[in-house]
Amino acid sequence: MQQLKKKQEHSFKYVFGPVPSRRLGRSLGISPIPRKTCNFTCIYCQLGRTTNFTNKRVDFFPSEAIVEEVQKALLITDQIDYVTIVGDGEPTLYAGLGSLINSLKKQTSFPIAVITNGALLYREDVRHDLLNADVILPTLDAPTEKLFRLINRPHKEINLKSIIEGMKQFREEYKGQFWVEVMLVKGKNDTPEILSKIKDIIDSIGFDKVFINVPIRPPAESWVKIPDPEVLLEAQKILSAESISLYETSDVTSIDKTAPPEQNIIEIAQRHPLREDQVYSLLETFYKNDVENLLLKMEKEGKIKSVIYNDRKFFIVPQK
Ligand code: SF4
Repeated sequence: MQQLKKKQEHSFKYVFGPVPSRRLGRSLGISPIPRKTCNFTCIYCQLGRTTNFTNKRVDFFPSEAIVEEVQKALLITDQIDYVTIVGDGEPTLYAGLGSLINSLKKQTSFPIAVITNGALLYREDVRHDLLNADVILPTLDAPTEKLFRLINRPHKEINLKSIIEGMKQFREEYKGQFWVEVMLVKGKNDTPEILSKIKDIIDSIGFDKVFINVPIRPPAESWVKIPDPEVLLEAQKILSAESISLYETSDVTSIDKTAPPEQNIIEIAQRHPLREDQVYSLLETFYKNDVENLLLKMEKEGKIKSVIYNDRKFFIVPQK
């Protein structure tokens, strides 16, 4: 498959990928918000702590410009399963979301997915904006307000009760697929008691699928850990979740072989921490020089930073 040629003959500001997704296959990503704009600052967030902490919906970018980019991207790569609005933060904070989804539905034939923390589903305008998407994938990590505040650290205007009510309301209004994800953090929300309570809430909402996830990449808080394997298997049973066997996928994203290797590394590491072995496998087909030296040079120049997480080395782009 051809990949997107970023910043060369095409310049993509909002579109990335396609990236392999455990839940969505090959997904062409759209970020309609500025980096790390969110109404949560989750302890496990792979983007680090939220820098633009807000609960205000803003028309950050014109939806026409985003749709135009998607159309250009689809001329280059059409072997995808979903066009996914995901954002480097919370995409429902984009006030133009409804018009973006509606335009994408009119102008592409691919199903549209939205990955969200679900926090704004209590708002009628947000629920309305999402109605024409094909799959909505919210998160639900805690059954109590106390644990919700500990794990997701929401904006002060947000509480768990209104999120659950919003999800129930949306389930009644929405005809598409509604898939929930529970991010499990060792010692925080992985006990059978807590999981049973989360399951009760999930059942009361009526999701079509349940996924569990674990913080496989360096999280915002270094003390966040992945639950033990036997705990995960038990969690899968309690939550009636989809298989968890794919957590350690190579998860290598598409790259632009015509762009310098530094640019590829930075563009991917900006979206999520990049494992060392992934860098080697990404570059091996087109970069014949010494990758180790390239990484050392980039670290020295402050373009990337290495962190050890879960006994593995990852590269991140330092926050300015
Ligand atoms: S994990 Fe998602 S919801 Fe949580 S802080 Fe990061 S971007 Fe926001």
